[in-house]
Amino acid sequence: MNKKIWMSTALFVSSSVYAQTYVLNADSAIDVVSGKLISPATVVVEDNKIISVGKSNRKAYPKDAEVIDLSGHTLLPGLFDMHVHLTSDAHVHGYKRLQRTAPRAAITGVRNAKRTLDAGFTSVRNLGAAGYADIALRDAIIDGDVSGPRVNAAGPSLGITGGHCDNNLLTHEHKVFSEGVADGPWAVRQKVRENIKYGANLIKFCATGGVLSKGTKVGAQQYSQEEMTAIVTEAHLRGLTVAAHAHGTDGIKSAIKAGVNSVEHVSFVDDEAIQLAKDKGTYFSMDIYNTEYILGEGEKAGILPESLDKERKVGATQRASFTKAVKAGVNMVFGSDAGVYPHGDNGKQFSRMVKFGMTELQALQAATINSATLLKQNTQLGSLEVGKLADIIAVKGNPLKDISVMENVIFVMKDGKVEKQ
Ligand SMILES: [Zn+2]
Repeated sequence: MNKKIWMSTALFVSSSVYAQTYVLNADSAIDVVSGKLISPATVVVEDNKIISVGKSNRKAYPKDAEVIDLSGHTLLPGLFDMHVHLTSDAHVHGYKRLQRTAPRAAITGVRNAKRTLDAGFTSVRNLGAAGYADIALRDAIIDGDVSGPRVNAAGPSLGITGGHCDNNLLTHEHKVFSEGVADGPWAVRQKVRENIKYGANLIKFCATGGVLSKGTKVGAQQYSQEEMTAIVTEAHLRGLTVAAHAHGTDGIKSAIKAGVNSVEHVSFVDDEAIQLAKDKGTYFSMDIYNTEYILGEGEKAGILPESLDKERKVGATQRASFTKAVKAGVNMVFGSDAGVYPHGDNGKQFSRMVKFGMTELQALQAATINSATLLKQNTQLGSLEVGKLADIIAVKGNPLKDISVMENVIFVMKDGKVEKQ
């Protein structure tokens, strides 16, 4: 198959696959599906596949295998961050962003992709980028030009005129609109088709206002039910998954009813929305670390005063909503919105997920098997199982006892290639 034929379920294997056998010996490995700890643990990797997982069995090693000693460490599957903006920088917000071209953003993305991979995130969903810079970055990683995670890329996010996914910084004389702006059911379908034409392998749209956009009400719905249904129907027809940015209750419900695969942020959620998500199997992707960075560093980075004001109202509510959703048993994935805060710090969210209601195992599942399942990639990624692709990380100690160790990933393998040791 031509690797440039994109489908949501297609996995992108680097062109430079190493014919190499590795034996990873560690104190333990976490089976994120069963929650069991395998201890001691040996994982054998041949080419880019896991060929055995279990207790150490030295006889089984091929002679030319490279043995990597990871004693004192725990092995985990490569992590997923389901909400990043690799081509955005945390210190460039508000009006500063008007000076960033798409080529400049793509170059920034090269650095951010490497930082993300080094933090143990071997797969990401890039939820929105101007000028298809995320598609260029994804393809450069696949071609082996630069190193980074597997990028599932949305291209420009869809949004209404004047909405959260439009650019509202300038007056009407400047006639500035974001590329993803489309109004009406057929216009949004056309925009989905356009994004697919230029290489998007998932779709992102803005269902409600947001924190960082100028002049939008964070809780107010933007796309109508009819438009959201049109977007999702068109994307699903073409085999792509859909992520909806939604803070306000009505927008969250309309997005779930439209059939989106995940709702992002989910700040003002009520019991009815939680029940709807459970009935439909919708995933929530809640960026609950982000608020600390926005309120701490945001002003220096150029975040508008009105956005800081909005964040003060949203942050605490979102964390309470997270607790409620976890308790109710909604499907959860790990989504950080990195790009708003510095890439590479993605892992800081784990401890907040535990603080606000998850068990350590649930937080790890959100960033592994749940995310792989959302992307329909769970037969090849998301857990340490024989036959899956060799995306493997190691952390010091045991994250089931102390989740903060996830902030310091010391070993990263992607596609059977050692990326960090
Ligand atoms: Zn975002």
